[in-house]
Amino acid sequence: MPLGEFDVIARYFSRSSPRSDVLLGVGDDAALLTPPPGQALVAATDTLVEGRHFLPGTPANAIGHQALAVNLSDLAAMGAEPAWALLALSMPRSDERWLADFADGLYALAERHGVALVGGDTVSGPLVVTIEVLGFVPPAAALLRSGARAGDLIVVSGGLGVAAAGLEELQSGRAAFESKDARVRRFLRAEPRLALGRALRGFATAAMDVSDGLLGDLGKLARSSGVGACIDLERLPVASELAAYPLAEQERLVLHGGDDYELLFTLPADHFGHIAHFSEAGGCSLQCIGSMVPGAGVECRRDGARVNVAGKGYDHFAC
Ligand code: ADP
Ligand code: MG
Repeated sequence: MPLGEFDVIARYFSRSSPRSDVLLGVGDDAALLTPPPGQALVAATDTLVEGRHFLPGTPANAIGHQALAVNLSDLAAMGAEPAWALLALSMPRSDERWLADFADGLYALAERHGVALVGGDTVSGPLVVTIEVLGFVPPAAALLRSGARAGDLIVVSGGLGVAAAGLEELQSGRAAFESKDARVRRFLRAEPRLALGRALRGFATAAMDVSDGLLGDLGKLARSSGVGACIDLERLPVASELAAYPLAEQERLVLHGGDDYELLFTLPADHFGHIAHFSEAGGCSLQCIGSMVPGAGVECRRDGARVNVAGKGYDHFAC
């Protein structure tokens, strides 16, 4: 007998809340939550559709992780601290093993960041996972996409392109989901840069997370800010996982690869010293790749000369 909807919720999505600000969690018509006074509530939601955001056959544990990670990454990009999550889960059947693995993946990440799952919805249908996260930030400290100014440095965290390389390993059949390959692990288990996002409060003029590829996402940040961006291709960070790739491949993956969930941000040059200690303290590497310029659009330079770079970021309705 497959589990009914209420048993699914009771068995897999009703773990006790680690937070005292949850007055009422899963079980009633809605959750009751107490945001801290003086802070802005930050809300973000993201949907993962099987076959579009994750490959059919992806381990349930990784889907649970990823569904929350992409949302936490949005909060990281706002400089916010996450608190609560809601999960809307559509699945073809109530497979207990799948549910247990999925819940483990989701709760493991939630616990690491002190996030409580406080509600959701469970329906039958194609496999689609929607999570909404709520968190806080002092209103004046929120990191927006729109604050970059000409002259600001452009900085990215960590290693870009690694997740895209992992996806290609999986798609080509060269690696399996269970592989220990660092690229595959990175694709399946991106770690949202929450600590970095908070460290950027008061220093970054604009920030966003890189989900659809550096070049496309930088274009969005530049447009929101009403300025242009200029990056030096020789300054792109190349992660050790990509060291063996030919140069052109490295560049393609770093500029256009999605799913890394690193942070892309801008800041005045004299602020860089304030955040450099973050990587030294074991946070993650930070690489300055160029600067914002008057005008519009993203320009790429190689050894000082302007070059055209083909390709663009992911767009659901443009492919
Ligand atoms: P209603 O019909 O009033 O929307 P539901 O039966 O859908 O209530 O849900 C019952 C309770 O379980 C609610 O508190 C809801 O937030 C929670 N819930 C439902 N599905 C999930 C889920 N997948 N994860 C977490 N909480 C859930
Ligand atoms: Mg409901």
